[in-house]
Amino acid sequence: MSARILVVDDVPANVKLLEARLSAEYFDVMTASNGTEALALASRAECDIVLLDVMMPDMDGFEVCRRLKTDPATHHIPVVMVTALDSPSDRNRGLEAGADDFLTKPVSDVVLIARVRSLTRLKMMTDELRMRAITSLEIGMQAPERSAIADAGKGGRILLVDDRQSSYERLATILAAEHTIDVEPNPTEALFHAAEGNYDLLIVSLDLNNFDGLRLCSQARSLERTRHVPILAIAEAENATRLLRGLEIGVNDYLLRPIDKTELLARARTQIRRRRYTDHLRDNVQNSIEMAITDALTGLHNRRYMESHLATLAEQASTRGKPLALMILDIDYFKSINDNYGHDAGDDVLREFAVRVRKSIRGIDLACRYGGEEFVIVMPETDLHVAGMVAERLRRSIAGEPFAVHKGTKRIEVTISIGLTTLEQKGEAVGDVLKRADTALYRAKHDGRNRVVSQAA
Ligand code: GH3
Ligand code: MG
Ligand code: MG
Repeated sequence: MSARILVVDDVPANVKLLEARLSAEYFDVMTASNGTEALALASRAECDIVLLDVMMPDMDGFEVCRRLKTDPATHHIPVVMVTALDSPSDRNRGLEAGADDFLTKPVSDVVLIARVRSLTRLKMMTDELRMRAITSLEIGMQAPERSAIADAGKGGRILLVDDRQSSYERLATILAAEHTIDVEPNPTEALFHAAEGNYDLLIVSLDLNNFDGLRLCSQARSLERTRHVPILAIAEAENATRLLRGLEIGVNDYLLRPIDKTELLARARTQIRRRRYTDHLRDNVQNSIEMAITDALTGLHNRRYMESHLATLAEQASTRGKPLALMILDIDYFKSINDNYGHDAGDDVLREFAVRVRKSIRGIDLACRYGGEEFVIVMPETDLHVAGMVAERLRRSIAGEPFAVHKGTKRIEVTISIGLTTLEQKGEAVGDVLKRADTALYRAKHDGRNRVVSQAA
């Protein structure tokens, strides 16, 4: 993993210094001597992290940062402001502009590298999600960048783990101005609490009595329910080295005591905003996976999913020596439903059909829309006799109750034909199983429709 760091500074000596230190740690370094150049490089997606000098002629670092953070193409790139200024108000100006961190010149090597490493990991994870979420854009899902830029990062749910009453009371009061905050003074309860609360941010004190706060951070990182919740660590200045260790194990950001109110709020907002953005990306990825395997009209699985999953089910059945039943269902005279009542009525029938199918099968059965008005149901651990009863029950659930169409103003009779078979005990190509079920279906149609025909393996 060789991240590309963009170093922006108008003083060549400063650029050289940072470049040398970063190169020594095997980062790829690119440089820019002014804001315009930096924006151009960043917008071509050529860097993973920006180290940004504050005082530059023309456009200062605050402005460059603001522009990076409001452009959908660059807003996810971490920005670290590097400056000789070190008053809380400068720090806060940078954080307000959207900077992810603020380092003061002369920059300590250890702090610089720890920070860049931790932001690199974050950037790689975001890139991976962005890349996968691209497909979701292609199928019409909303890109999350616009809402991420508009998000002020307020209204988050925060869990504060701190056992010193004077400290947590003060912090909770500050944070409550913008967020919902829960306090957990007992560190041994904190992990459970965090896993159950659906939090946007964990704030963990590293100065706990008889308890290693870093252990808690590391546990939160490995637990499924808390893995993606950002962590902001808080420590006394003499514990600064532990904070660097924290960055290594996945702490996202930190603050030293005494805590500046504005800085705390700004850092919390940054973490919450980022958390919402990556959650949104993750949702898009999840939705596009679901859309890729689901039939949009009926919500059943689609043919592609069935074909890949059927092979797995057949293999399992063979190796475990269990039966596997498969049926093909086809709506009778469906074309005439379309012809007589319209295509929309046909769609209503397909939707209602899927509802009734779902009610008749078990959770482990696999139902899919195989083609227009043709469906396949695969039933693990089911022999021909039992499957025959399920098929008959299904047939009756369709024929027994007319289907409502045209918003319930009209009800029409619908019947189905079913061809049923099982997998050969010795194992067999799934194509052959499907073919046998199809032959059985053909006979059901031929023999007068509205019936089940079974064909033993
Ligand atoms: P059979 O009893 O022999 O199965 O006759 P059928 O009319 O059901 O079969 P055929 O294959 O002749 O016609 C199927 C029709 O299903 C043709 C097609 O227009 C219609 N169809 C396919 N997909 C959809 C869909 O998504 N919505 C609607 N409304 N109709 C569809
Ligand atoms: Mg300068
Ligand atoms: Mg049909």
